[in-house]
Amino acid sequence: MQGSIARICTSFIDVPGKIAVAIYFAGCSVRCSGCQNKALWEASSGTKMTVDDIVEKIIQHPLADTVVFLGGEPTDQMDVLIAVCEKITQEGSKELILYTGREFEVLPETLISMLTMIVCGPYRSELGRQGWPASSNQRVFIRKEGSWQC
Ligand code: SF4
Repeated sequence: MQGSIARICTSFIDVPGKIAVAIYFAGCSVRCSGCQNKALWEASSGTKMTVDDIVEKIIQHPLADTVVFLGGEPTDQMDVLIAVCEKITQEGSKELILYTGREFEVLPETLISMLTMIVCGPYRSELGRQGWPASSNQRVFIRKEGSWQC
């Protein structure tokens, strides 16, 4: 199985207080009007990578104890996203975080059962703010003691 990946890099800002390896998925069908990342709207903006190649990059990262999936829209490549999460979960050593333009309620249980934080909802420029997340309609779900808090 292959995904279209725009880049893989270290992130110090996407997960507060954590050093994360960031996986930028290429392609987004959500198409928020105020998107700052339009260069990633087309899946062709990325490079084809196998699930194993993506997982290898994550495992080899020397510092990160967290993985953050963003883009683009990671859930547009749901099979790849779930497969990567399953393999990292089997390794058992890293927290998995998702940024998505979709709402929490439409995400499959198979996916969310492996995550510890989800930043949900489309970016709406009229609700933009200086803080985090970038627009005030976006919700942050954090798993605490087995249940989700928002
Ligand atoms: S979901 Fe993210 S990448 Fe997609 S249009 Fe909205 S802000 Fe841009």
